[in-house]
Amino acid sequence: MSDTTAARGTHIDSDDERALVEAIERWVEKEVAPVAMKFDHDDVWPAELVEQMTEMGLFGATISPEYGGLGLPARTYAEIVMRISSYWMAITGIFNSHLMMAAAMERFGTEAQKSHWLPRFASGEIRGGLALTEPNAGTDLQAIRTTAVRDGDDYVINGTKTWITNGIQGSAVALLVKTDPNADPRYKGMSLFIAPKGEGFTVGKKLKKLGYNAIDSAELVFEDYRLSADHLIGGEEGKGFFQATGGLELGRINVAARGVGLCDGSLRLATEYAQTRHTMGKPICEHQAIQLKLGEMATRARAARLMTLDAADAYDSGQRCDMEAGMAKYFASEAAVRNSEESMRIHGGYGYSKEYEIERYYRDSLLMCIGEGTNEMQRMIIAKQWVKRHPV
Ligand SMILES: Cc1cc2nc3c(=O)[nH]c(=O)nc-3n(C[C@H](O)[C@H](O)[C@H](O)COP(=O)(O)OP(=O)(O)OC[C@H]3O[C@@H](n4cnc5c(N)ncnc54)[C@H](O)[C@@H]3O)c2cc1C
Repeated sequence: MSDTTAARGTHIDSDDERALVEAIERWVEKEVAPVAMKFDHDDVWPAELVEQMTEMGLFGATISPEYGGLGLPARTYAEIVMRISSYWMAITGIFNSHLMMAAAMERFGTEAQKSHWLPRFASGEIRGGLALTEPNAGTDLQAIRTTAVRDGDDYVINGTKTWITNGIQGSAVALLVKTDPNADPRYKGMSLFIAPKGEGFTVGKKLKKLGYNAIDSAELVFEDYRLSADHLIGGEEGKGFFQATGGLELGRINVAARGVGLCDGSLRLATEYAQTRHTMGKPICEHQAIQLKLGEMATRARAARLMTLDAADAYDSGQRCDMEAGMAKYFASEAAVRNSEESMRIHGGYGYSKEYEIERYYRDSLLMCIGEGTNEMQRMIIAKQWVKRHPV
């Protein structure tokens, strides 16, 4: 019996890991698969599924047991995200964004902040996400304009965030602001707050999207929103940029895992369809043109899975893995787009129909190329790391 043990302090017995992943598999097949299409088409928040995810402990999946979480290693977490995403990627965003907020708190919060917030995050009593992006700044996060100005024991916050996952249904966000807009370099003037909803913190609008439906992506508006200074994560100004981006390795592994799930799901749908659809007197999986597609799709799905688990293992063992996580994220997300497109083609005209599942996989997969660093940036980051690790 081997263990998935993490130098980062997380640990799970391999039998327990298998049991947990199998329980998730059963849940997703029984509860998620039958309703995913309807929730996606209606763009309605899946309250009952969120309730079930809360009961399964998913909102505390990566939070340490000392704060009431499951303390799962990155590998186990990735396995769970893959399984769910192979039926409906979007719902993983509900706990994933929440866990990014929790990770920033667990890594950088003061003891008092961690003991106050983390048990509430782990139980799902408070759910939320990461509020970094603004209308004028996504990739260039240091260009954000939201400010927090000290006023006695408080900070007064003004500005607008956009595209914030869980912005409507959640009750708090980790909020990136400028505490010194004139700082040079710019990142030294950035701070991260834990921001519960309250007076001055309003939802601007729900954003309509190509995919990732049913999940609330919102504009958030802060107008003279007042927070006491003990909401400043870590208690020190000027650390926010690194606190907000410090979880990127894990964030990229998570997006890669979603990509793997989309690859697998697209392949599963194509495999089923290709064996039941007949043309010229035989199932289409016996035509060479379709076999070439299935062969490539299966290979891509396997490669994406192995790269993602490799990055997760490196993360769990405490090794530096920013390049490996970036490679996995880049490869798995592009593979998801390719696999879902090929699966649509295998479905012929039905692939373009809203009555079949595959069109959702295509719409959802495109988002994976944007989140946690666009794939344009990802390749540049990989290249920089690659050159650094191979000096002449
Ligand atoms: C559905 C959805 C959910 C999201 N959820 C969240 C969330 O929960 N929290 C949050 O904070 N944000 C969230 N985002 C925002 C997301 O992180 C940003 O959209 C992303 O970081 C890209 O930023 P941008 O949209 O401003 O594009 P830009 O930064 O304006 O980029 C535009 C294009 O230019 C390219 N580009 C930019 N700079 C460079 C450069 N230096 N070199 C080369 N190419 C470059 C980009 O790759 C891209 O192709 C979400 C977005 C979506 C669509």
